[in-house]
Amino acid sequence: MAEPMPGFDKVIIVDWSASKTPSRVTPSADAIWIAVAENGTTTCSYHRTRADAVQTLCRHFDAALDAGQRVLAGFDFPFGYPAGFGRVVAGSDDPLVLWETLADRIEDADNNANNRFDVARMFNRQFPGVGPFWGCPEGLADDDLPTKGTARHGHGLPERRQVETRIASAQPCWKLFTTGSVGSQALLGIARLQGLRARYGATLSVSPFEVPDTPIVLAEIYPSMLAPDVAARQGPDEIKDRAQVRVLADAFAGVAPDALDAMLREGDRTEGWILGLGHEDVLRAALGDAPVPLRNDCFALPPGVDWTPVDTALADLRARLGPVVGQADVAVADALGRVLARDVVARRAHPPLANTAVDGYGFMNGRGPGPHQISLVAADMAAGAVPDTAVPAGTAIRILTGAALPPGVDTVILQEDVSVADGAIRFVGPIRQGANTRKAGEDVQEGAVVLSRGRRLTAADLALLSAVGVAEVAVHAQLRVGVLSTGDELVPAGAVARPGQIHDANRPMLMGLIAQMGHVPVDLGCVPDDRAALRARLDAAAGAQADVILTSGGASAGDHDHVSALLTEAGAMALWRIAIKPGRPLALGMWQGVPVFGLPGNPVAAMVCTLVFAGPALAQMAGAAWRAPQGFDVPAGFTKSKKAGRREYLRARMRDGRAEVFASEGSGRISGLSWAEGLVELPDAAAEIAPGDPVRFIPWGGFGI
Ligand code: AMP
Ligand code: MG
Repeated sequence: MAEPMPGFDKVIIVDWSASKTPSRVTPSADAIWIAVAENGTTTCSYHRTRADAVQTLCRHFDAALDAGQRVLAGFDFPFGYPAGFGRVVAGSDDPLVLWETLADRIEDADNNANNRFDVARMFNRQFPGVGPFWGCPEGLADDDLPTKGTARHGHGLPERRQVETRIASAQPCWKLFTTGSVGSQALLGIARLQGLRARYGATLSVSPFEVPDTPIVLAEIYPSMLAPDVAARQGPDEIKDRAQVRVLADAFAGVAPDALDAMLREGDRTEGWILGLGHEDVLRAALGDAPVPLRNDCFALPPGVDWTPVDTALADLRARLGPVVGQADVAVADALGRVLARDVVARRAHPPLANTAVDGYGFMNGRGPGPHQISLVAADMAAGAVPDTAVPAGTAIRILTGAALPPGVDTVILQEDVSVADGAIRFVGPIRQGANTRKAGEDVQEGAVVLSRGRRLTAADLALLSAVGVAEVAVHAQLRVGVLSTGDELVPAGAVARPGQIHDANRPMLMGLIAQMGHVPVDLGCVPDDRAALRARLDAAAGAQADVILTSGGASAGDHDHVSALLTEAGAMALWRIAIKPGRPLALGMWQGVPVFGLPGNPVAAMVCTLVFAGPALAQMAGAAWRAPQGFDVPAGFTKSKKAGRREYLRARMRDGRAEVFASEGSGRISGLSWAEGLVELPDAAAEIAPGDPVRFIPWGGFGI
């Protein structure tokens, strides 16, 4: 049997342009956009000219070839023309011969200046009547290239390719000019792709004209195919063209390798085909959790809200945040702690075959009370042996733990319960039918969902996945969490502190918490209380270094609270006044599309707010399912009188079956954090707690750390 085709390591999607001049310097619509999806991350780039775009493609192709990787590149223009066109202009029905002819005729300079209308006119002259190409600026029109489609007649070619008859909105490739036309893009695009064919030779193939078994495969795509999915995922300030290539790259990158390979082999081999047409549901499913950019107003609070209860704040975060990371396949062995991006189905039942749970002797049927003797067959069955011949009725076989039950065996007696002599076993019944055996699939049935997307994989999960024949799983890329400290008084841990200065304690703590939560901590250092410095640091970090940023300090509404001031200035911040102790207002905002959690500076409040709010929010952004902290009701080992109206968290630990709390509730006491092994959570209502009363203890592990 042929080896299955390896999948693609990179998926590139290109939104092409037929512009006759370089596109605007600032990224804009109707220019060339390229999205590259690899390793679970998709990056987009903007290109002012076709020459520049092709250079970028070549860089990606060269890198892939060097690394022994495969790359799929999709382009949003027709790769072919209605049947019959090639025969006339290229003397062949082979679409790739037509590509050569086109490339010979088209001139397309580095600055986008090109002769596409002349080439179309020249092709038109080879047909009777007028057409098939039409559309050009007023001054360039003549009898051979009309400005109106209705002026065409008698050229004898179909208006659409087969594939375009399936999509009402697709424009015919004959139309070269004005809204929505793709004709010019095809002429200029095919010419450029022919250049790539010449450059990459046998390492490149064009779908569906050639067998897509090369390292580089080119295919035609049609972004509108996933229009609603793109719209749902378009960022608040994102240019539509960018969103299109980004989402399509995510979609194709998420399709299973064999399904994608099959798609590349479909369609009309003369006229070309749109990759994935008719499989929109597969592409949509592949998008699954692909990141939906967060909206700039995602932290807005309804007006007039005063102190928000903790549960309300959590419900709001839960509703507003979604995964912001892509996905990738990893080997099960490398998947510990990663978050599943898709449900995992058992490829094999567990156990795959009925087998014995003990070392002993197998035979058919149970036996009643009293003494029994069964003669032994000569063979025995060890784990891993394949049962072939049946054990004859009325005989028994020696069988070892884990060995599959051979035909003729459905019951096993423990070896300690028998005596063996003269080629027979003797034992005293009763023994019931099926004793000491495991049924095939009694643990997991083949095809069952064993683990659901959103699960952070444990060591036990790796055992389960391995047992049911799963070698690779789709996981989310790890969330990169930037950690930034703010305050004029801070010096980095280990540095010399002058009087009045303190060491930055929050940064190492927050970095550690992030790592324990399974994310990637990114050290963004420490900035003084200076708005310009803070702005510069956030600018550098947002997106490029971090998917989300945690700051500590400066989050309140005071004169020195620059974090909240800056985010407010950016128009995307809400000061969440949450009814929680310890904790001051949480500043939640968006900085260039990246969520920023402005935590209190106080280390105790910073840690509590991180565990209570940032933890679940980060998990959700990392693609994990929302999970409330798991606590236990235990007897209090302390006395406490608590006011109504806010939830309180006390540093606590379990000793002798009771929760004891740290001697001081002072929120500057870092030593208490270190002393504690969890938190006692006291409800929002007033409470009088005496020793022995039940209180909720949440060990650090209950917060996922
Ligand atoms: P702020 O929220 O900036 O008003 O800070 C509140 C308190 O926390 C002040 O006493 C700060 O000195 C202290 N603080 C702020 N950031 C840190 C940090 N990174 N490490 C230790 N203490 C800090
Ligand atoms: Mg400060």
